[in-house]
Parts: sequence; structure tokens; C-alpha cells
Amino acid sequence: MLGGLGLGLASTSSASGVPDAEPIVRRRATLGRTGLEVPDIGFGTSRLSGDGAEDAVRHALDRGIDYFDTAESYQGGEAEQVLGRALAGRRDDVMIASKVKCGERTRVSELRASLEATLKRLRTDRVEIYFNHAVNDTDRLRNDAWYEFADRAKQEGLIRFTGMSGHGGRLVPCLDLAIDENLVDVVLVGFNFGQDPAFHQRFTSAFDFVAVQPDLPRVLRKARAAGIGVVAMKTLRGARLNDMRPYETAGATFAQAAFRWTLTSDLVDSLVVTMKEPSQIDEYLGASGATGPNPADAALLRRYANATERSQCRYGCNDCAPACPEGVPISDVLRMRMYADDYGDPALARGEYAALPVDATACVGCPAPCHSACPHGVEIPGLTRRAHHLLTRS
Ligand code: SF4
Ligand code: SF4
Repeated sequence: MLGGLGLGLASTSSASGVPDAEPIVRRRATLGRTGLEVPDIGFGTSRLSGDGAEDAVRHALDRGIDYFDTAESYQGGEAEQVLGRALAGRRDDVMIASKVKCGERTRVSELRASLEATLKRLRTDRVEIYFNHAVNDTDRLRNDAWYEFADRAKQEGLIRFTGMSGHGGRLVPCLDLAIDENLVDVVLVGFNFGQDPAFHQRFTSAFDFVAVQPDLPRVLRKARAAGIGVVAMKTLRGARLNDMRPYETAGATFAQAAFRWTLTSDLVDSLVVTMKEPSQIDEYLGASGATGPNPADAALLRRYANATERSQCRYGCNDCAPACPEGVPISDVLRMRMYADDYGDPALARGEYAALPVDATACVGCPAPCHSACPHGVEIPGLTRRAHHLLTRS
């Protein structure tokens, strides 16, 4: 629950709920029963590589961000390496979460090898949280190898807590199972204003009312009631930030508006967001400690939702899957297009695209029976073809 104010706190305007401009963490949250006290805005490392990456980590740390979310797959392992170097000498001051994909048939020995490699790259002897990464299938939660592996790693002090992350079309049933069977300490879930039925009810009456994953608020409330920590990700709903710059005003950037929506939804404890540049970190921290939306937030979020309506695949949706006779995983392919086009991260997109069991090769020359399959109006065939072109070009 968002609670105790942490680091030397700046004042917050009670009229608007907008924190003043000093870029520091203003609120810390207790991550469910783990008892971990995390900043309301944590550092996502999916793009952590190259020149300046270590400086970005230290910049964040100096401003009170001491929760770092990484994964063995981020930047091919480089993100963990950068983090390990940047946090040298500061390890006891921070919390690190990392992730590995445990599939339906992954073995204990494979999980153990992945964890040991992660610890080596991070230059540490433990992680605070270890997530089963991008779970979108309840069968992956029924693999006993994960629990055998995790129990032993916890006993040895290599992992303190475990969880699952997810943002796919079957996220809700996966969360229901994980919560009901007490399989996790923490969940990391895709959740943003565009997935919240309350957003549609309040601000998009001109749209067809289609709330994606209307059950997500229910399951997040259930998680919190069970003492499971809830961390949000994908809070920017695609992050085409530059498109919004002309409409932003001081103290009300699109990113801050999106964070304020999520952080004051009462459905999550905290959020993580990919960070790369010091200026971006300072901008993001403008939303830390928010107690409510800025008056300008609604207009920005609504404008973004309108602008991306036909290109932004909704997190957690998979409604068009039956429309493709070739079995192309449309929502995955469109997410990878988003990584390339909107996040500006073609390396991440290409890596994930290359790992797909079925890619969008079949879209080239296809008569596209999927053309009208998206109830949200997303132009599927044009976007899947673009993704294939972008992500296979040498
Ligand atoms: S393209 Fe439309 S129907 Fe298909 S997953 Fe995305 S939002 Fe859902
Ligand atoms: S264009 Fe054809 S192959 Fe591609 S997703 Fe649509 S139906 Fe499937």
C-alpha cells in the first residue's frame, strides 16, 4: 500500500495533487507481505545498455530510486551487467528484481543455471525478487520445477521473494490462479489508464465503450487484499511520447499524467518504467508522490488515446487470435512493432521477434481475413506486415 513518505519530502499541492518540481522520490510503498519498502516509481532496465547507462542508474539512485527491475533477456544480459557495475559498492542500499521464463517443461537445473548467471552478471549474491517472466498461460504456473527451484534458492538466500510478471491476453486467469493458490509474493502486471474501465467511463464516451480486461481491477484488488505486492508496468500504453510534446504544459507531461493515473488508482503499490536518460528520470519523478490527477491530465490522456486508437494494440487483449488461419501471434507481433516504432528500441524488438515460434512471415501476400477482426479498430495486417519488414531487414 502506498504509504510512509520516504526521503526528505517536498511539499505537495493539496489543491491539484501535483508534486512540486524537485525530481526526487516522494513516496514509498510497502510491497504487500514482502515488507519491502519500494519507491512509488522504480527503474526499469529493458533498455539499459551503451554509453551513459551506468550514469543513468547512479542518477536515479541519487534521487531516491532504489528499486531496479531487470531480466536475463534485457539487452541480451547487458542490462544486468550494467546494473552490476553501476551498483558496485551500493548493493546493500538497493533492491533488485530479475526475471526468467519458466516454461511448462523447464527443468530445475535450467532455472538454477539462469539464476546463477543472473547473479554473476549483477555481481551480487542474491536478488530481492525473482519473477517468472511474461506468464500468459496457466500451465506455466503449474510446472512444479519452479517451486522446487524457488524453495531451495530461498533457503540458500539467493532469492528473497518470488512472483510472476505478465501482460498478455490470459493475464487475468493466470493472476487468479497465482493468487488463489498462493503461488506468488509479488505480481508485476501491465496496467495503464487505457486498461482501466474507469478511464473509459469518464473520458472516452465518444468511443465505443470497450474496456480491455474489465476483470483486471478485480484481480488486482484481490491480490492486494491477499497481501501480494502489485507492481505496474507498461503504464505509458505504448510511449509515443514525442507525439504528445506539443500538448504538454509545465508540470503536466503525458508520462506524468499516465503515472498519476496508475499510482492513484488504488490498484497497485508502485510502478516500474524503463529509464534511460537523466532528463527522463527527472521528468518521471515529477509524478512521484501524487495524490490525485493534475487538472490537465485528463485532456492529455484522452488525446493520446485518440491518437493511438488504430495503431495501439491493447495490452491483455487477444480477441483477434481466431481470425488468423496461419496462427500468427498477432498481439505479440504488434507489441514488438511497438518496441521498435514507439519505444525506439529495435534491438529489443528484433530479439523478441526472432524468438517467436511463429512470426508474421505469412502476412506477406496474405488476403488478410484478419482485416476487421479487431473490435478496437487496430489495422492488423498493415501493422503485422510492417513489423515483419522492420524486424527481419538486415
Ligand atoms: S489487434 Fe485488436 S483484437 Fe487483436 S490483440 Fe490487439 S487490440 Fe486485441
Ligand atoms: S495478414 Fe493473414 S497471416 Fe497475417 S495475421 Fe492477418 S490473417 Fe494472419
